Amino acid sequence: MTAPHIVWLRRDLRLADQPAFCAAAQAGPVIAVYVLDDERPGDRKLGGAARWWLHGSLDSLSRRLGRHNSRLILRRGDAVKAIAELAMETGASTVHAIRHYEPWWRKAEADLSSKVDLVLHDGNYLMPPGSVTSGSGEPYKIYTPFYRAISRILPARDPLPEPAMTLPDNWPESERLEDWGLEPSKPDWAGGLREIWERGEDPAHARLEEFVESVTAYETDRNLPSVDGSSRLSPHLHHGELSPSQVWKALEGKRGEGVTSFRSELIWRDYAQNVICQFPDYPDGNYRERFDRFEWRTGKAADDDLKAWQQGRTGYPIVDAGMRQLWAIGWMHNRVRMIAASFLIKHLLIDWRQGERWFWGTLVDADYASNGVNWQWVAGTGVDSNMFPRIMAPLSQSEKFDAAGYIREWVPELADLSDDEIHDPEGLLRPPAYPEKIIGHKEARARALEAYSAIKE
Ligand SMILES: Cc1cc2nc3c(=O)[nH]c(=O)nc-3n(C[C@H](O)[C@H](O)[C@H](O)COP(=O)(O)OP(=O)(O)OC[C@H]3O[C@@H](n4cnc5c(N)ncnc54)[C@H](O)[C@@H]3O)c2cc1C
Repeated sequence: MTAPHIVWLRRDLRLADQPAFCAAAQAGPVIAVYVLDDERPGDRKLGGAARWWLHGSLDSLSRRLGRHNSRLILRRGDAVKAIAELAMETGASTVHAIRHYEPWWRKAEADLSSKVDLVLHDGNYLMPPGSVTSGSGEPYKIYTPFYRAISRILPARDPLPEPAMTLPDNWPESERLEDWGLEPSKPDWAGGLREIWERGEDPAHARLEEFVESVTAYETDRNLPSVDGSSRLSPHLHHGELSPSQVWKALEGKRGEGVTSFRSELIWRDYAQNVICQFPDYPDGNYRERFDRFEWRTGKAADDDLKAWQQGRTGYPIVDAGMRQLWAIGWMHNRVRMIAASFLIKHLLIDWRQGERWFWGTLVDADYASNGVNWQWVAGTGVDSNMFPRIMAPLSQSEKFDAAGYIREWVPELADLSDDEIHDPEGLLRPPAYPEKIIGHKEARARALEAYSAIKE
């Protein structure tokens, strides 16, 4: 009997370009396992939209393994305990896994390595997070020097093919995915998500191929919410159905500004993880400590405003369209993410962490690093230049980026307004048809700058 090798899966739900799978398959028979662990992440348990995605991703991977006569073993509970038990049950000699950087996974990796022979691989980023360093050997904190340095190295490697796998003599028991309740049933709120997304490795590659055909237009189209101009690969990348090296490879031979700016966005993903690698708790607190003294609004009025923002009832059509898109399909256009985040932080003076948490629960691509780093970037509380005094004007942003079509789609009560009227319907529609502005832009701007002046150095 040959001892099997366990592949412990987390946000790396693919067979191709999956170094943990490849290493295990080279060493002997493979047993792939996913453990649903709602204990270790504490209050960072997967949100509803991410759980819905996970269901489809696991289902798809399980079918894919089935095509190799293999299986995906499912277990629930503490991941370390579950993997150690599985290793005992199956006599596995080694556990292979892709390294993760969320603090609870780092701890799990450390705990597990004291119980089993754990081999960690890199593979979810273009370069291993923390490995791109300056002349003095320090990892970068700021995006631009990080971008310059990593651009000189990429592509670091070619994607790996799907491994040929041998099967274990016996299969351990597995739970049933249907029993995990990852998809909502009562009520079933996932209709909008089902309509737009196809989960799994094959659909991820299909989407990539389709996008690569139009990548030349990315430079201009990516900023226009009314145009389907970005790749929409974020949930596939987040759950690891696709690796960034595969995306990079697919762009080979393509030239132009669209390709350069798409690559630089992909590098943002690496950059965010590089920040988490240095500051693991980054998404939970201000990097710039003086913001700990900032007087964010709290109490009933602030709670009501937060609710209005979450529900897309702020009276600012671009913000409302974004928040409703998020609720309906678990995703929001990047430009609108910036506008909506800025609005919560600066117009409503609500602590960015409340917005980060809302996105965490509602995005299909909710990512500890990308979400935390982008929220602190908009807030101006993070490692990069201080953006707080740069207060985005939602109405001019809406006009500038031609959001009329986008607003019509997501705020249907405004659909009959003209392209000129739709960005600011004040005086054209009254509540309850459409809410009045929660606060005027000028007033909000002045209030934000005044609050900021109290902590300004
Ligand atoms: C407040 C806020 C919160 C965000 N939260 C998340 C999050 O939880 N998860 C997430 O994946 N992205 C997040 N982003 C970044 C960005 O909005 C999304 O990655 C992008 O909108 C996804 O759409 P796309 O796949 O079409 O992107 P494209 O424009 O096609 O970009 C390609 C890929 O590059 C990566 N990328 C692009 N922009 C960024 C960025 N600013 N930071 C990090 N990676 C980026 C993504 O993996 C994306 O799929 C957030 C941005 C803001 C402003």
